[in-house]
Amino acid sequence: MSDSHGEDILLPSTLSGKRICVVGYGSQGRAQALNLRDSGVDVVVGLRAGSAGVAEARADDVATQPIGEAVAGADVIALLAPDSAHEEIVRDVVNPRAKRGAALVFAHGYSITFGGVAPREDLQRLLVAPKAIGPELRRLYVEGSGAAALIAAEPGDIELARAYAVALGCGRAVILASSFREETETDLFGEQAVLCGGMPALVLASFETLVEAGYSPEAAWFECLFEVRLIAEMMIQHGVAGMVERISDTAKFGAMEAGEALVGEPTKAKLRELLQEIQSGRFAERYERERSGGSVRTRAWLQTLREARIQAAHEALAKTMGLPAAAAAAAEPSSGESATSGES
Ligand code: NAP
Repeated sequence: MSDSHGEDILLPSTLSGKRICVVGYGSQGRAQALNLRDSGVDVVVGLRAGSAGVAEARADDVATQPIGEAVAGADVIALLAPDSAHEEIVRDVVNPRAKRGAALVFAHGYSITFGGVAPREDLQRLLVAPKAIGPELRRLYVEGSGAAALIAAEPGDIELARAYAVALGCGRAVILASSFREETETDLFGEQAVLCGGMPALVLASFETLVEAGYSPEAAWFECLFEVRLIAEMMIQHGVAGMVERISDTAKFGAMEAGEALVGEPTKAKLRELLQEIQSGRFAERYERERSGGSVRTRAWLQTLREARIQAAHEALAKTMGLPAAAAAAAEPSSGESATSGES
């Protein structure tokens, strides 16, 4: 992957004269519609009847239309409804109504790679996947910086995908050429192995280990959860080696021994297995069964997390310390809050 860096033209000529329809006004839909509009793009938000997004978009001074009309009038259609709705929207609205040769933009490759979405043959399939949740994409744009994005055109005009990413502000960070498959599989793997699977599970197990050994939940919470932010920020700024260079000598020595003991060959074999499950489509099949059955296991798992001792410790300490969860929500009142791409 390689590509452009540090551009600050927000309306490339590739987009001039083109109308963009953003379908959905949730986390990504709101952020992308506002960024596109502020970059000078002709943008309209397409929503179904009765959508709460209509009032929200109006309050933001963004034009709205019924979804069918918005799609029919657009040169570029950004599908920013949840991935699980893409198949239906493409089948019932986009395929019957989109202009010949229009471009369909996806913010995540899942529904094309695994979700059974079948756009009309003449439609371009563009990927513009910002590496940020919607409120962050908007916040960075407003600040004068931007979020990184992965782009692809399969098939389609890659320069149009790049121009769309530039108008989102992503050219101020980095725009990387990728593919639908690469973006989807690395995203799923990252969220399972590290971000939402591995790391929180290690936080929980480590917290329980300390509390079961008689340490206070408060002390365990600081050591196993709160300080994750400090280490994550150091890794982002300086890399893994740079983080290790900056920690104490005891932390360095302990990290070396414990890291090798915890993530040895059995864990690496498990990581390869997770990746194979994703690549083969078996993960997507299991997910689809769970989703269509009402996400029973997922909801039960979430309930056990809510009831875990670490959550009680978190709520008490977060309140005492005035942690920024409430402040972040207040900054973008009408936006959703999903972690990585997709429905995670
Ligand atoms: P979201 O917030 O859940 O989207 C909600 C919006 O979609 C609402 O305006 C909703 O309208 C509309 N919608 C839902 N079902 C619809 C349907 N059947 N027909 C028409 N409109 C419908 O979605 P999101 O989290 O932003 O995700 C959008 C896309 O961005 C996904 O492909 C996702 O993978 C990707 N992505 C998301 C994030 C993120 O920050 N969440 C990050 C990277 C990539 P109603 O009011 O009518 O329900």
